[in-house]
Amino acid sequence: EPPRTAEPAGAARLTVLAGPTAVGKGTVSAGIRRRYPQVWLSVSATTRPARPGEVDGVHYFFVSEDQFDDLVASGDMLEWAVVHGRHRYGTPRRAVQEHLAQGVPVLLEIDLQGARQVKETMPHARFVFLAPPSWDELVHRLIGRGTETAEEQERRLATARVELAAEGEFDVVVVNDDVERATDELASLMLG
Ligand code: 5GP
Repeated sequence: EPPRTAEPAGAARLTVLAGPTAVGKGTVSAGIRRRYPQVWLSVSATTRPARPGEVDGVHYFFVSEDQFDDLVASGDMLEWAVVHGRHRYGTPRRAVQEHLAQGVPVLLEIDLQGARQVKETMPHARFVFLAPPSWDELVHRLIGRGTETAEEQERRLATARVELAAEGEFDVVVVNDDVERATDELASLMLG
């Protein structure tokens, strides 16, 4: 007989992955998408313009400010936040619920503000914090990827400092010392 649990059916299968900027959340979740098709990676809506190579409906749903307003107003967002003080990002609720209802493990790769909102509304989800091996390594990665201006790097590092202190709010900490290893660790948390 399966163990009895107070959790609503399916809720334990929701995993929220958060962590500071440049820690490699995007790379780890891309690794999950590629290597663990049993996991469904939620596709967020964002007002940020697409970068080269990003596909609408695959990496994000790229929407206008008005469309984002409508999604929020109609209650279609499980959570949403302004990230790095610029663009809005949010998790469409319905696709998450549908996958969970079908017993599919769901991964949300979102920022800390979003993770805190999900903790309010879906406290049975599992909250995973992706941590850098060290502060120096985080600085190195942020500067090394060279996608931000110096000013933006400063801003993100200031945010990262604050975000690193949130580690204790999470159920599990996965250290991103090696992308493959961290991806496998996350997958085994989700798939057993
Ligand atoms: P990027 O613009 O580099 O794709 O993502 C920037 C940040 O937005 C990342 O920290 C990522 O975790 C966060 N993000 C992506 N999708 C969502 C979402 O649906 N909700 C929230 N709260 N943050 C998100």
